Amino acid sequence: MKHMSAEHHVPTIDESTVECGTESLAPPYTPPPTPSYLDLCHSGELLHRVEALEALLERCTICPRDCLNNRIKDEIAACYSGRLPIVSSYTPHFGEEPPLVGTHGAGNIFFGNCNLRCVYCQNYQISQTHKAQIQNEVTHDRLARMMLELQGRGCHNINFVSPTHFAPQMARAILLAAQQGLRLPVVYNTNAYDSVEVLRLLDGIVDVYLPDLKYAENDAGYLYSKVKGYKDYARLALKEMYRQTGDELVFGADGLLKRGLVIRLLVLPNDIGGVRESLEWIRDELSPRVAISLMAQYYPTNVAGTNSRYVLLSRRLRESEWLRALSALDELGMAEGWMQEYDGAAYYYRPDFSDSSRPFKDIRDFE
Ligand code: SF4
Repeated sequence: MKHMSAEHHVPTIDESTVECGTESLAPPYTPPPTPSYLDLCHSGELLHRVEALEALLERCTICPRDCLNNRIKDEIAACYSGRLPIVSSYTPHFGEEPPLVGTHGAGNIFFGNCNLRCVYCQNYQISQTHKAQIQNEVTHDRLARMMLELQGRGCHNINFVSPTHFAPQMARAILLAAQQGLRLPVVYNTNAYDSVEVLRLLDGIVDVYLPDLKYAENDAGYLYSKVKGYKDYARLALKEMYRQTGDELVFGADGLLKRGLVIRLLVLPNDIGGVRESLEWIRDELSPRVAISLMAQYYPTNVAGTNSRYVLLSRRLRESEWLRALSALDELGMAEGWMQEYDGAAYYYRPDFSDSSRPFKDIRDFE
């Protein structure tokens, strides 16, 4: 397992482009290998998938909450999200795992709102402020152009952050962007409270799955993220992601990640996440070779630092707790993936979305 500050590789430039329906915008460079959504685009399958995903919005079952509201008519429910995507910020980002960041950054697109309500959400300024976020609604075409812009700025992938509740809108925008020259791998950076039906429809559209596995107990998910059955649904979702990708990570000649599954485990104070239990489940039910991203960046934010109900989450992680998580990885033989540094992690990754063009301090500012 490598540290998050591992050396970055310099990407090579591949000028090849693949036409897909309409005129190409000829992006400045396109890294190999070709993302699989291009094949789906050429065959017409991508359009079928988009339409099947959009049909789920009519009685919304996009995530396991199964609200059954008609989002095509902008009826909103638990995630406060209707027909159009909401984008709170899009920017090159240097705080993800090294093979996603490279030299030019991951191309992050932060969706507004969320299907969870984590009391410690570090992105609460955009995930739990739906009255403000409605101002950030964009058309599918605008979302596609954001992706092309990030590609034009040299980002190595399109990293959709909290995409679950906007999976159909994301897929529609990928179709539009692919038709106009998008060639970057698509990363699905999710809280894992995802529907298996939706994930099956995303097979071949998403190149890299980057899910959290937040808890090993449903009760913790209910208390701290306000959803029922988090552990059960997230584990089903991870099984489906694993079915699609297996445990092999595919890297390009540039050393950057092009395809695969990386499971993020954020170590919480007082072992609220049950890291060892989750690791045991991954090892036994998926594979001991699945890549793990172990994260030390927890700090009390949102209501975790102020509401006494969440007192167990009201402090930073202790070094002894971090070392216990590292021992669990070691003892269980989970050697693939990355880990953050304990020192400073809580500062590197603190966003402030009041500056939507640069919500994260550049991790390189600290090096
Ligand atoms: S995506 Fe939103 S509206 Fe649809 S089921 Fe989930 S929380 Fe409910």
